[in-house]
Amino acid sequence: MSATYPGAVLLREFPVNVVLVECRRCPRRGRYRLATLLQRFGPTATLPEVLVALSADCDRRRDWRPDGPCGASFPDLVRRRR
Ligand SMILES: [Zn+2]
Repeated sequence: MSATYPGAVLLREFPVNVVLVECRRCPRRGRYRLATLLQRFGPTATLPEVLVALSADCDRRRDWRPDGPCGASFPDLVRRRR
């Protein structure tokens, strides 16, 4: 499973207990409890897989014009990488 995203951060390594997902291109905002996500996706799930799954119903996920695709991300992770 991790072969899809080599070196990707695992869901269980997420730094906070509440996982926020935001999209830069649509009004979508998600808020998920980490424990719930771990139950749903399993302990070996990686963050990229979870993000794709959670944003699969975004209006723009399949809009491949240059400014089209969904920009969903984990804002907490982006902040902590600085
Ligand atoms: Zn989106």
